[in-house]
Amino acid sequence: MGGTSGRGRQAGGTPRAALADLLAGNRRFVSGQPVHGHDVTAAAAASGDQQPYAVVLGCIDSRVPLEAIFDQTFGAICVIRTGGHVLDRAVCGSIEYVVGQLGVPLVMVLGHERCGAVGATVDALRTGERPGGSLAHLVDEIAPAVIEAGLDDPAVHPLAIRRHVRRTVHTLREDELLVEPVAADRVAVVGGLYDLATGEVALLDPA
Ligand SMILES: [Zn+2]
Repeated sequence: MGGTSGRGRQAGGTPRAALADLLAGNRRFVSGQPVHGHDVTAAAAASGDQQPYAVVLGCIDSRVPLEAIFDQTFGAICVIRTGGHVLDRAVCGSIEYVVGQLGVPLVMVLGHERCGAVGATVDALRTGERPGGSLAHLVDEIAPAVIEAGLDDPAVHPLAIRRHVRRTVHTLREDELLVEPVAADRVAVVGGLYDLATGEVALLDPA
């Protein structure tokens, strides 16, 4: 965290422009034509003040490397990853910092197919065996989405993945420091879903 202030990097810093940039990067990735390599010259070029234009909250899953799937270079996006993109105070504080201090206009919550954290939550609810340690926090946070999706539904896993993204988006829109800029349309919080096989990111609720 080195920057001071800024409106975001590109195209006037609007949520719409930021989303277009992010999705354009995913299309470059999917088409096999990424333009951003992760080499030291890119690191050096971005070594001044940072002016990222989006923050992406995703899962820790090793198959979903966020800078790669959006074809983003150093300094372009802030990335937060937790199991099943579960929120806690550190995550929310980090997003509040990026939005409030760096002027980033876009927050994307990115779920993915076959998410192990959601699968583990389905298993925990079906067996009644709540895991120990801090793993319990992940299960507790994902459980409402699984219950809403319907524990007995054969498609509970994919349905709960989508519900959990939407619930996370909703929670962030209501965040104490995000609610006002979101209401004023200066910041957008959107949900997306990553397809492991194709590399495509689809918006859950396109505008
Ligand atoms: Zn996952």
